[in-house]
Amino acid sequence: MPDVLSAMEGFTGGREFVASLKVKVMKRSPKAAQEIRKSSEDSAARFVPPGGSLADLKRAAATCKGCDLWKNATQTVFGEGTSRATIMLVGEQPGDQEDLKGRPFVGPAGRILDDALAEAGIDRTQVYVTNVVKHFKWAAAERGKKRIHKKPRYFEIHACRPWLDCEIQAVRPQVVVCMGATAAQALLGKTFSVTRQHGQLVESSLAPFATATIHPSAILRAPTSEMRHQQMRTFVNDLKQVAQLAMRRAA
Ligand code: SF4
Repeated sequence: MPDVLSAMEGFTGGREFVASLKVKVMKRSPKAAQEIRKSSEDSAARFVPPGGSLADLKRAAATCKGCDLWKNATQTVFGEGTSRATIMLVGEQPGDQEDLKGRPFVGPAGRILDDALAEAGIDRTQVYVTNVVKHFKWAAAERGKKRIHKKPRYFEIHACRPWLDCEIQAVRPQVVVCMGATAAQALLGKTFSVTRQHGQLVESSLAPFATATIHPSAILRAPTSEMRHQQMRTFVNDLKQVAQLAMRRAA
């Protein structure tokens, strides 16, 4: 049940619908009520300080145990950037380097992001960068010491959502840019396809504008240099459009 509810929350207006559904179900079935209460307890919500600034939130997130992902990670990787940012970039989760350094997008994908932002004319110090999940989920490689990225599950994304909601509330960006399918489907709806809909502006309660583009790590994984080049062009073009929009909103 909690997995299904988490998935439904991804749709536009889903959170409100799920909240009312939970109340109805809890009234009718004590067993379901127990499960729903447990899924609400397994969330970052109980670690979030009320009315906290970004610094307060970051401090509180450092001790979050809202799901099990903290157990296998080095540290919480909270978002980073100015609270006055007009653009908020949201990825999936920290990677290996980010987990070790405790900062988002500082590994190989971060370097691709830096290059793309520079090409699009966006100053990284003027954006807020974060992830839907704040701990690195990984599995050991069959050989060697490499830690292999594992995609977070619905309930982990759901558990971590209160941190992202607070970041959005604290920054109040004009544009939220989801990078990759995990962020896009968590924030823009389960049926959102980054391949087909990247660069499109969609209605959202998150900010005046929301959109999605490729995740920089997808560019790194492209099998040929031609495909890498093509994906980078798409990424930069989407970011250029965001830059123009942010400029218009700021004018
Ligand atoms: S992934 Fe999010 S909810 Fe889970 S422990 Fe880390 S900060 Fe808390």
